[in-house]
Amino acid sequence: MSSQSPSLSALMNILSHLIPPGFLRNRRGGTVKTPEEIAIMRQSSRIVATVLKELSDYVKPGMTTLDLDKYAEGRIRDMGATPSFKGYHGFPASLCTSINHEVVHGIPSRKKVIRGGDVLKIDTGAYFQGYHGDSCITLAIGEVSPDAAHLIDVAEKALYQGIAKVKAGAYLLDLAGAMQDHVEANGFKIVEEFTGHGVGRNLHEEPSVFNFRTYEIPNVKLRAGMTLAIEPIVNAGSKKTRVLGDRWTAVTVDNALSAQFEHTVLVTETGYEILTDRNLV
Ligand code: MG
Ligand code: MG
Repeated sequence: MSSQSPSLSALMNILSHLIPPGFLRNRRGGTVKTPEEIAIMRQSSRIVATVLKELSDYVKPGMTTLDLDKYAEGRIRDMGATPSFKGYHGFPASLCTSINHEVVHGIPSRKKVIRGGDVLKIDTGAYFQGYHGDSCITLAIGEVSPDAAHLIDVAEKALYQGIAKVKAGAYLLDLAGAMQDHVEANGFKIVEEFTGHGVGRNLHEEPSVFNFRTYEIPNVKLRAGMTLAIEPIVNAGSKKTRVLGDRWTAVTVDNALSAQFEHTVLVTETGYEILTDRNLV
């Protein structure tokens, strides 16, 4: 993900106080969407939520991750959208499927059989009428260990702790701190090498929505109408990851488990709207 140098970030912070409000609208820290754009993003996000909800019922031990990908692509296209990920920088599939110690960007394959006890991350995006939605869930396949169940629970709650901080006038650091605190209070680690992002016309837009306290990534002030993909990744062991030879799949360096949840979220004056809320489908 893109990050600016700390000195440039500091300069931009000073400038933002000198320049009349609104001048930097759509120039720094991500675009503010119009009501028309937001209406479309509700639809693209709803398609994503529908696919993830259906997949959580569809998946069974013995299936391959390619089976899930075929199902998801069919459903995304049925609903009049195209898969956001397929072809994105050459990614070959509609889903990222990452199992156990795989952290993100796992490539669906007929060789990857899903087994009882697995911790399965499914991430997908849909592109509908010019706008993307993006969301990720972690599923416990069958019976998982108590430690795995706890990790999944902490990762999901971390996302909601971050979302709870979203409102116009809040800062990205508010979200990041809330997510990091929840994860570390439970003895786990936030991955720092991947961040969330703005989402809209492009799958990845400004700002970088970081999940941990940092001063090296611009601490953007949120404005009503911004749309953010918030996506903390939680590791049971080391926070460090490495990318496999397929140049996509990131895994934990110590083979410990990893879990992730993601929502596309609209910033409002009073709070937020979770556009990929599966309870709405
Ligand atoms: Mg995603
Ligand atoms: Mg994302």
